[in-house]
Amino acid sequence: MLRVAINGYGNLGRGVEQAITKNADMEVAVVFTRRDPATVTTQGAPVAHVDDMAAWADKVDVCLNCGGSATDLIEQTPAAATLFNTVDSFDTHARIPEHFAAVDAAAKASGHVALISAGWDPGLFSMLRVLGEAVLPDGATTTFWGPGVSQGHSDALRRIEGVLDAKQYTRPVEATVAAVKAGDDVELTTRSMHTRDCYVVAEEGADRARIEREIVEMPNYFADYDTTVTFITAEELAAEHAGIPHGGSVIRRGHTSAGVAETVSFELQLDSNPEFTGSVLVATARAVARLAARGETGARTVFDVTLADLSPTSPEELRAHYL
Ligand code: NDP
Repeated sequence: MLRVAINGYGNLGRGVEQAITKNADMEVAVVFTRRDPATVTTQGAPVAHVDDMAAWADKVDVCLNCGGSATDLIEQTPAAATLFNTVDSFDTHARIPEHFAAVDAAAKASGHVALISAGWDPGLFSMLRVLGEAVLPDGATTTFWGPGVSQGHSDALRRIEGVLDAKQYTRPVEATVAAVKAGDDVELTTRSMHTRDCYVVAEEGADRARIEREIVEMPNYFADYDTTVTFITAEELAAEHAGIPHGGSVIRRGHTSAGVAETVSFELQLDSNPEFTGSVLVATARAVARLAARGETGARTVFDVTLADLSPTSPEELRAHYL
């Protein structure tokens, strides 16, 4: 039985816990939190404060770091890698080289394996981008995100004066997705690829025209997209927008000879982004335990694990039934 620690108990931490209920070869040994453990209720696993992590070094095989990418994981993963084999879902793409180097140093020094940036993007989508390019070198890869909730954009809406609560959905432009799959000559711009739909609960008496203007003109977040703003009540937000769905697609379109085109596409439709991301982290934990058992140390990414290492099924069974 693989003994897993969950480090950080937010949406993703709970998603990992739920994913482990579907994996018979693993159990949650402990949940670590920076909060008072008495205030955190799990599905059954004990809760310990992060300051007491060292006491669990011999009782945990892999620690899944579930903090936020913005500020948590940069510190959380190197710290945890001094004690455990680890996996995280670090998704700040521009800072991945820097994060990898820090984690690699910590993991090598302590003799552990620490896999960073697992999940679906980065994660499964990254694997498909590499596979597509390897198989179809003469081509182009396009990634679309959504339909799904963007936590960062929802936060940006909530910071606007007069906004009580909000949810933002990113949606791929279907006509553009179809054109990419068909190999049509379509211009790929921020605006032509995705739209943004905002559902906003405004304070009573707030100037809705001003709020809408501030949203659609917000640089980096909304100004470069076709953005719709819909004002709804707090009750409607709770009833109709409580979930955290997401998804997207990676499309590789290439030519194997003149006029001969091949298209590979990989698509996700997720009712729950954290439960799916948690499921990827759990499979990755299995692979990390196997890498560590073979004596490997240092930082790794999804590019370094084999499909056989991710699978609970034996290599013999895989060869017999999956090839
Ligand atoms: P949350 O904001 O829900 O949780 C982040 C941390 O905040 C938790 O680990 C927890 O730490 C703390 N926290 C959670 N709830 C509370 C609370 N009620 N009060 C105080 N603190 C709380 O983030 P998510 O779990 O939704 O996302 C984590 C990261 O996962 C994201 O930043 C994103 O980068 C990444 N991600 C990656 C994906 C991929 O495909 N690679 C896909 C989806 C997400 P503690 O218990 O220590 O207090």
